Amino acid sequence: MSAGPVVLLVEDEPEMRRFIRASLQASGYRLVEASTAHEGIALASSHNPELVLLDLGLPDGDGIDVTVKLREGSKVPIIVLSARGREEDKVRALDAGADDYLTKPFGVNELLARMRVALRHAKPASVEPRLTLGDGLELDLEKRVVTRGGAEVHLTPIEYRLLAYLAQNAGKVLTHRQILSEVWGPGSAHQTHYVRVHLAELRKKVEVDPSRPKLIVTEPGVGYRLRDG
Ligand code: CA
Repeated sequence: MSAGPVVLLVEDEPEMRRFIRASLQASGYRLVEASTAHEGIALASSHNPELVLLDLGLPDGDGIDVTVKLREGSKVPIIVLSARGREEDKVRALDAGADDYLTKPFGVNELLARMRVALRHAKPASVEPRLTLGDGLELDLEKRVVTRGGAEVHLTPIEYRLLAYLAQNAGKVLTHRQILSEVWGPGSAHQTHYVRVHLAELRKKVEVDPSRPKLIVTEPGVGYRLRDG
């Protein structure tokens, strides 16, 4: 018997459920399955899963409503499984409290990697004051200093907050609204051009090739993600 994390899958398509079941069981996860929004909410409270994989288009409701409902009493990581071309829905799901999304069709390895990130973020926040961001870039959260190969990278206060927020959520997609509210404060939620402008400046300072960003990647129509590891 496997003793891996319990994952709740809320998905109405039998083929998608079969695909995910095979992938997860082969990796040692224990799976609980629901095919409706109603059943998903019920199983979340009876089985206390460590992770939820959530389809948005469910026969009796919307995955976003399920997210809102789950967030009333739980911080369980939620990964939305979304059909292509519904970016607005993805953004709404993330803003409602989902942790990440995958666009269908997706590969097994991508799914498992996103699940590992989500489970890692669910653990108590790390007190690690120094974050290594790749390509020799280091972020010291105590001194609020960014260095590359030991030399300081000079950032404006906004650029620093932007990088620190992305780095503390490495691997996770963050929506424009989440970034605005965290970096600029509540009330700035509609100023998405702030993010675009300051992110472009930040990339010039932290990316090896700012025209082909590898550290901070754009999630089109949704937001940004700092590469994990
Ligand atoms: Ca569906």
